[in-house]
Amino acid sequence: MSRSIVTDYEGICFFCGKEAEGKHHLIFGTGKRELCDKDGLTVPICNGCHNLGEASSRVHGNPMAEKLSKMLGQAVYEGRIGTREEFRKRYGKSYL
Ligand SMILES: [Zn+2]
Ligand SMILES: [Zn+2]
Repeated sequence: MSRSIVTDYEGICFFCGKEAEGKHHLIFGTGKRELCDKDGLTVPICNGCHNLGEASSRVHGNPMAEKLSKMLGQAVYEGRIGTREEFRKRYGKSYL
């Protein structure tokens, strides 16, 4: 498991700035969390922003936020790791 390549502030919720309580994998779904761990495509997150807050202010269960999360993951991958084609092969599809 590697550290996040998305943010240097591991202890702070990426979305609201409160103390982080867990880790969100920017791209999720079967097998993809593990890839995100290897690639560092994770962000620190508080429980409210992750999945315990209201639907409009959390990532999971919020279709627009889930989509943006995957798009951000791919954008960071393409900026720091590899090409779109390599992303597509590794994660099974392109979100951009
Ligand atoms: Zn938060
Ligand atoms: Zn998550």
